[in-house]
Amino acid sequence: MSQSYERVYAQACRHARESALLSACESTLGWDERTMLPVQGAEYRAEQMAYLSGLIHQRRTDRQLGDWLGELAESPLAADPHSDAGANIRQLKRNYDRATKLPQSLVEELSRSASLGQHIWEQARRDNDFPRFAGVLAKTYELKRAQADAYGYEDSPYDALLEDYEPGERVAHLTQVLADLRDALVPLVAQIAASGRQPDQSILRRSFPTARQSEFGRKVASEIGFDFRRGRIDVTAHPFCTSLGPHDTRLTTRYDEHFFSTALFGTMHEAGHGMYEQGLPADQFGLPVGDAISLGIHESQSRMWENLVGRSESFWRHFFPQAARIFPEALADVSPEAFYYAINDVQPSLIRVEADEATYNLHILMRFELEQALLSGDLPVADVPSAWREKYKSYLGIEPENDADGSMQDVHWSAGLVGYFPTYSLGNLYASQFFEIADQELGGLHQQFERGEFVLLREWLRDKIHRHGQRYKAGELVERVTGKPLSHEPLMRHLRGKLGRLYLLPG
Ligand code: ZN
Repeated sequence: MSQSYERVYAQACRHARESALLSACESTLGWDERTMLPVQGAEYRAEQMAYLSGLIHQRRTDRQLGDWLGELAESPLAADPHSDAGANIRQLKRNYDRATKLPQSLVEELSRSASLGQHIWEQARRDNDFPRFAGVLAKTYELKRAQADAYGYEDSPYDALLEDYEPGERVAHLTQVLADLRDALVPLVAQIAASGRQPDQSILRRSFPTARQSEFGRKVASEIGFDFRRGRIDVTAHPFCTSLGPHDTRLTTRYDEHFFSTALFGTMHEAGHGMYEQGLPADQFGLPVGDAISLGIHESQSRMWENLVGRSESFWRHFFPQAARIFPEALADVSPEAFYYAINDVQPSLIRVEADEATYNLHILMRFELEQALLSGDLPVADVPSAWREKYKSYLGIEPENDADGSMQDVHWSAGLVGYFPTYSLGNLYASQFFEIADQELGGLHQQFERGEFVLLREWLRDKIHRHGQRYKAGELVERVTGKPLSHEPLMRHLRGKLGRLYLLPG
């Protein structure tokens, strides 16, 4: 009997791994589209990708797969939910059940509306034409409501959508955690503004030749532990990280000759994502145990390397002398302290992707609140610009002069990504909570960074987080690794400590 379960499990795994082959082909085409593709090639590429997505969707909703998984879920193989087989069966079944809940017509309409929506959004943003964007927004939310209804939910339709990005997370819990964060952050940001202190930002805006930025970025990525034998880095307008196979992780970055932070911190961010991918068990590629848990956990890895490591004083004790050698014209007369202060400048701003470590989360909070109001229908689409301005005014003390720098700044809503934004803040929260424990368990990370040692942290992350793939849900993993449920406190301790010293805040 148990032998026959083993056979069914092997068949289900083979089925999933074959789907992963197709997905990896799709990802390869997607990577090429965003890095290399000539303009005129876009149309045929869209056809290739749509064809592959159709095949993948068919496979993922294959009734035969569903029968196998139904049988396996009741079998002794699934008894231990944290074993490889138990976790793979649970997650494959969950994915199958979700995929089959959506009618084919809705899947197609969501995909059509996302690609058309992005196209209209680009033009509407360029022309600062909110009424044009409003049509896209109304359509998006109508379809997302239908999608939430098809998935089903207990408390809030938002829960059903959140499940696509942060499985197991619920709006009631998230609201509490983010409200705690907001209540602690808003006064901190106000205190910083009232301090009247400001670093000299101009030192980051001198001339940093692209070729040398690229050399420095590769050096940093490699020293912190990104494996270039199993990955590469290329250039794009919008940086991302993607895996094309178990030993092929692609990072991208972008360069601004007159702003140091863009490329280096972008590279470290994507390298953090990349090291997570490289730490997943390669022999489970194509199965849930070989795959990342959630967007929030993924983002915790990128934010940790970008902010908690890359914007730390100890990191620059090690790297600043090298940076000064590589960029002598720009940095010869700059002290490491002035540089460290400049890369940690806190300033309320209108654009999320340019926000600093502290104010960033307030941009997310507003989107989270607006998304729920839009989904429930409490906020009519036409009122989005005024609601946006009100929230920016109350959280950050500033408001946009136009909608292009307001509610039209991000691609997410037009691309049908509702419930995605909170995963950015979850990433920041998880990152600080993990980092605090790693620091305790590894006996002082900053002393290690000063000596240029990053391998212990990377190995700790690999052991505690990466190698488990989807064995645990995000919330479970946080409790297992840190002994506590998710909290805003580690992030606030980090921000208060660092910014308190830089801005000479009382207390
Ligand atoms: Zn990221």
